Amino acid sequence: MNYRTNNCGELNISHCGKSVKLCGWVSKIRDKGHLKWIDLRDIHGTTQLVFDRDRTKKNVLNIAKKIGREFVIQISGKVVERISHNKNISTGDIEIIVNEITILNESKNPPFTIEENTDGGDELRLKYRYLDIRRKPIQKNLLFRSEVASMVRKYLISNGFTEIETPFLIKSTPEGARDFIVPSRMNQGKFYALPQSPQTFKQLLMISGMEKYFQIVKCFRDEDLRSDRQPEFTQIDCEMSFVNQKDVMECFEGLLSDLLLEIHGIEKKSFPVISYFDAMNKYGSDKPDIRFGMEIHNIKEYTKNKGFKIFNDSEVVVAITVPKASIWSRKEIDYWIEWVKKPQVGSKGLVWVKNNLDGSVKSSVDKFYDYKNLKKWINECECKKGDLIFVMSGKKNETLIQMGKLRMEIAEKLNLRKAFEFAPLWVVDFPLFFKDDMNNYHPMHHPFTSPKSEHLDLLDEKPNEVHALAYDLVMNGNEIGGGSIRIINTKIQEKIFSVIGLNKKKSKEQFGFLVDALEFGAPPHGGIALGFDRLVAILNGDESIRDYIAFPKNNSGYDVMIKAPSEVDPQQLDDLGILKK
Ligand code: ASP
Repeated sequence: MNYRTNNCGELNISHCGKSVKLCGWVSKIRDKGHLKWIDLRDIHGTTQLVFDRDRTKKNVLNIAKKIGREFVIQISGKVVERISHNKNISTGDIEIIVNEITILNESKNPPFTIEENTDGGDELRLKYRYLDIRRKPIQKNLLFRSEVASMVRKYLISNGFTEIETPFLIKSTPEGARDFIVPSRMNQGKFYALPQSPQTFKQLLMISGMEKYFQIVKCFRDEDLRSDRQPEFTQIDCEMSFVNQKDVMECFEGLLSDLLLEIHGIEKKSFPVISYFDAMNKYGSDKPDIRFGMEIHNIKEYTKNKGFKIFNDSEVVVAITVPKASIWSRKEIDYWIEWVKKPQVGSKGLVWVKNNLDGSVKSSVDKFYDYKNLKKWINECECKKGDLIFVMSGKKNETLIQMGKLRMEIAEKLNLRKAFEFAPLWVVDFPLFFKDDMNNYHPMHHPFTSPKSEHLDLLDEKPNEVHALAYDLVMNGNEIGGGSIRIINTKIQEKIFSVIGLNKKKSKEQFGFLVDALEFGAPPHGGIALGFDRLVAILNGDESIRDYIAFPKNNSGYDVMIKAPSEVDPQQLDDLGILKK
């Protein structure tokens, strides 16, 4: 006999009179003495069961009495029309008169309510994640994730990509983070690393002639966790042969366009392409949210020689216009002045200018700048009557980033970042390297990224001026993917290793296999990886990835449900040859 004839989300008025069998969890019980209702829930929906003295057999009533929340039950009964219809659910026109009931399993009282809006706090929900997933919003997210994965597969396969698995127990591939290390029992004193990405393997597959590779794959990075980062996360990882930067960008623009069309019916074609430097100058970020204006303007030249030392001494003076904010009170403005001083932003403060509706102009630097001076700022910043300008000054890069943070936070507060408005773009022309505080060069992406051919001559003398054939796919203020055209020439590859301080011996040790392989006919190739968790969240109008991952870790990288990481038996360490003596 089948467990059920129907699920809990599909019965409606057309089924009235039908005998059905359903299974599910008891979500709500309402008891009025002579009448009792139970809401029966499964992943498809909720169906109301009704019990009363006239229509329900005594033994069924007796069993119903013993039932508590989250019991798993099976019922047989008849579909009838409800007296008061519930328009909010698909089964809201009917209920089931139960004539047989079986308790399939009992349940303890759950630690939080299993409803749309639960009373459970974050840690409790993570501890009982299997119960949290029983809630509709999380189930919906996981179903959505699975749908997006299948759309991605469909697109890539129909574009000639082959899905290939690469190993998890590998040697470290530096992508800017620390590796998770796995000790080897059979090779004592030696360690595997979990991949930060399948970068080197996908390049080897191109050398093998597989032409177009993809994988929806777990990657592992042992980073200090900022909120909403996970030590293990999923990427849509791809690599293509015989392509240039434009080809890769076109292919993945196609993927994101398809997803936006299929999921939201939104048509997005010809994504804007902006250089890294323009992104930094205009938005103070290499992953700009371009859904709203408030672009950054450099007004340094209009501030000079007026006796205002702070501006005179600074490398840049940058400003944004906040729409309709000239009416902000002193208190509101002070809030932002304090906000930018937070250590996470790190600015020294803000100068403000109000372009009042009545045509008057008022600023916090009236002592130094008169109406005529301030009018120049207003024109430069496209500040309309009724708007307000915030100004920051300091060292160029730092100040732009601080202004970028202010721009995003104000937009958030003013509700300008609409969840279901999508603004994808490409950021290109990245520097190949960045310098750390000790003046050492590091790759901006990873060391296999190709320099622009016209910049090859600069590698020796001016590495900081070399640009990369790299591209980031950005949407709504989030980097959702990044990739590059790869180096296929061993000489250039070795040069890059030397700029980043890897001498011949070290680079041979770490990447000998890749450099060797490049000498066996490596085709021109390039690729990209999209952060799948974040992509799914953004496509569903969310920014937090936590509830799109079935079993996430908390902000300290800890799994509170299985209690990992954990100590292990000393015997295990002994077997591995790493027991502390
Ligand atoms: N491996 C890179 C990453 O994980 C992406 C790429 O260059 O394809 O970010």
